[in-house]
Order: sequence, then C-alpha cells, then structure tokens
Amino acid sequence: MDLIVGAYTVDTTQIRKALLKLGAKRLLIQSPLGLRAVATELAKTLEAEGYSVLLSNSACWGACDVAYQEAENLEADAIIHLGHTKFMKHDKIPTIYIPCHYWNPAPLINLIPRISNVLNDAGARRIGLGASIQWSIHLELVKTELKKSGIEALTHEPKMFAVEEAQVLGCDYTALKPLEDKVDAFVVVGSVFHALGMALVSDKPTYAIDPAAQSIRELTENKRRIINQRYANIMKFKEAERIGIIVSTKPGQKRINIVNPIARILQNHGKEVYVISADEVNEQLIIEYGLDAYVNTACPRLSIEDQVRFSRPLLLPAEVLVAVGILEWSFLVEKGLIMFPWAYSDENSKTVWRLIAGEAYGRRQVSQYEV
Ligand code: SF4
Repeated sequence: MDLIVGAYTVDTTQIRKALLKLGAKRLLIQSPLGLRAVATELAKTLEAEGYSVLLSNSACWGACDVAYQEAENLEADAIIHLGHTKFMKHDKIPTIYIPCHYWNPAPLINLIPRISNVLNDAGARRIGLGASIQWSIHLELVKTELKKSGIEALTHEPKMFAVEEAQVLGCDYTALKPLEDKVDAFVVVGSVFHALGMALVSDKPTYAIDPAAQSIRELTENKRRIINQRYANIMKFKEAERIGIIVSTKPGQKRINIVNPIARILQNHGKEVYVISADEVNEQLIIEYGLDAYVNTACPRLSIEDQVRFSRPLLLPAEVLVAVGILEWSFLVEKGLIMFPWAYSDENSKTVWRLIAGEAYGRRQVSQYEV
C-alpha cells in the first residue's frame, strides 16, 4: 500500500519487501529539501513497525549524493533514499531508492490544451517528450492527449544515470538527445531547471512544462543568457594565473579521471594549479582559497545555475579547453557539449576526451581515455 504525503506517493510495499530481504533494522532516511515532511511520515510508519529510524538533515541534491558515509558513521544497516532513482552502479551501503512520484496528474492534464496550442502554433507536429522522475508516471496520459491534437510524442530509454523511459536528470539527457533528428521540438515536464539542460544540449526548441506553477516556457532566451554568461567567464578565466580544480567527494559527482589531465593542460599553459576536494561547492570555498578562478568537475549545474552567486569564474572542463585556446567555443555550443563530460556521450564528446588526453599526455596515451 502506498503512503500519500501531500502531493507525493511513497511505495511502502517496495520498502517493506527490500527491508525484509536485507534484514535491515536500523535505517537512515535521506531526502532532498521539499521531501523532509515525507521522510518524517515514513519514519513514523516504519518506527511503528519496529524499525529504528534516523532522519538525515544533510544536503541531498540528487542520487549522486547518497549518504554512505553518514550511514556508516551512524551504523545504519540501510539507507532509504527519497526523491530519486538509482544513480550509482554499486551501493557501498544497501540503499533503497524511492522516487516519490506526484500521485495526482490533474495539474499536468490541466495544461494539455495550452501545450497543444503552443506546439501547434510553433508547427511542432512531432516532439521528444521527457520528464523529471516525479512526473514520469503520467507521460503516457500526455502522449494520448497530445495525439488527439495531432501531435506525436516520442520517448526513449536513457543510458547514462537515469533509469526510466523518458526520465531526465539535470546532468543526463540521454533519453532525449537521440531523438534530435526525428523531432521538431522537445517538451520536458518538471521544471525550467530540467528543461534548460536539454536546451543547452540541442538546437531544437525546448519547452519547460511546470505543472506546479502551471507554466509553459520556451527556453531559447534562457539558453542565450547562459551561453553569454559562460563565454564571459571563459574570457575572465583566460587572465587567471592561480587556478583551483574542484573535485567532489559526493559519490556520484567524483570525476577524478578528468582532474589530472585538466591540471596538466593548465600547467602546460603556465597556470599555477591546486586541486581542492569539496563536499559542497559554495562562495565560501571560492573566497577562502582566494584563487583567481576555478574548474568545476562536480555537478555541471553548479557552473550553470550558481555561477551568478560566485565571485570568480567556475568553468566546466571543456570550457577550460576553450580558455586555453585548444577548442573552439562554437564547437561546444553547436554540439551541445558545454556540460561535458555530463549530459550525454556521442562521437563529439569522444573527440573532446581525445583532445584532453592528447593535450595532457601526448598522442600515445589517448587510447586510455577513449570512452
Ligand atoms: S550531478 Fe547534479 S544534476 Fe546530476 S543528479 Fe547530481 S545534483 Fe542532479
């Protein structure tokens, strides 16, 4: 039986089955902001059934951010991770992922006539349809309703971190990008955040559908602003002499394989380089280390959404290649590779890997970085 808390549904049958199988008794419930009330209700239910439950108040930005260390410190047998699907290939501590879907499709269905009108006015007869995990269970309804207005909605399996058909994450658009040549536009149900990532990886118009806000937005202008902001920061980075490369300690954000080659490339171009490990990336880190600029190998959205809050450039790895003059900015923008090595992987992203390895170590070692 599902537990309903506010707008969310929690599959408690799945939780009970998994706990029985694991034989777990002491649990850590981890939740992002917005789902802490759900976590509390779930704790109440499980406590009543004899489990010992701890509620984590740590930051939780995605399933990239599973609290293995916290669970280990607290001697929990298992983690219940709310709001996301499985991201890591292997869990260090048994982890039960509970997505917490929106149980009521009404706010989304209510928007369908407006979505149909907007798409018809734009001449979009065939679209690529994606959603955040909270809305993904209602996409079949959307497909059926759009069909009545003559709009065909295509979906695709993801292949990076997302797991469900049509599911998008802020760092994974592999459920949509392969549809690019077949569709006139993309429609992403969830929020501007989820849709903006898609707008950055494709030239096709992208529409953000936010059922909670009852809004429909086409994101060309948002994309233009981000591209300008990124380029301005690349220009500032060029002048920087002392650079910090940030490597995340979050299990799913740790991209250690790109840190050394980027450090070598920067050193080859006369920069002084420091590698900084961080759990949270914030202005305090930027100010305290006092370096001229930083490279972000953690969540790509820190550079995209949060750059305005940082007093120094926080470049993504492929943007560094532009700053040191070994890759054209137009290539990154046109191929949708700003978020490299996140978002998706194709022949163009492999080219960037080869370029990084070649610049850092010479052609002989390129093969070890080919993906
Ligand atoms: S890396 Fe960033 S965008 Fe991806 S799941 Fe984690 S928090 Fe979300």
